Amino acid sequence: MKTITLTRQALNRGSLLLVNASHPLPESVAPERLTPFFGSGVLLERRTSLVLENLFETLGLGASLIPVSGYRTLNEQKQIYASSLAENGEEFTRKYVALPDCSEHQTGLAIDLALNQEPLDFIRPYFPRDGICGRFREKMISYGFVERYPEGKEDITGIAAEPWHFRYVGLPHAAIMMLRGYCLEEYIDYLSLFPAEGPHLEISVQNKNFEIFYQKLSETDGSVTLELPSSLPFQASGTNAGGCVVTLWR
Ligand SMILES: [Zn+2]
Repeated sequence: MKTITLTRQALNRGSLLLVNASHPLPESVAPERLTPFFGSGVLLERRTSLVLENLFETLGLGASLIPVSGYRTLNEQKQIYASSLAENGEEFTRKYVALPDCSEHQTGLAIDLALNQEPLDFIRPYFPRDGICGRFREKMISYGFVERYPEGKEDITGIAAEPWHFRYVGLPHAAIMMLRGYCLEEYIDYLSLFPAEGPHLEISVQNKNFEIFYQKLSETDGSVTLELPSSLPFQASGTNAGGCVVTLWR
């Protein structure tokens, strides 16, 4: 067995961070954890950028899709919210623009993509379901990306359907969310049904076996120590919702 320690810092790191109106981002992302996507002006969290670049290269998407918006600072989110209020009014803005500190663009794990054609809409980019965009949607799950604000989940996400906004959650999580039809809010709730004390979620995804459990941890708890099988690769991600998800590759 090996011992791992989950600290308070771990709560705000990882690909399963939930950021929405009731789960604001507690701290800004450190600049060294961000990198330009394909050398563009769009910044993403390092792993998110690397995986998305691989996906673009695999599908030859370079000239077809435009990265419209990736990482945003708190100030940028404030400006976008304010200018949308002025230009589009309150009803539209509440539907499509997250409140400052409640936008997952501030994590660097999310990107808005547009099909490369004029005119380009910054708030609601055009990303249809067919053609090259359809091929991207088919392939993205196996690279760990999900459509974050699907139609029919508006009451849960608090955001109108956004077919252009993609979120990196990693594997096996994207595949399980797809399989169960869960948005991220529902998925984090679901994982919390599998506490560290067990039983854990055991699932096979793309011919690999995974064991997943949820370790509760709050800002005031200090840290938690866990014993994991020493031979198995693992990943721990904070959820920004009172705990960490631990994923073991079995
Ligand atoms: Zn977006």
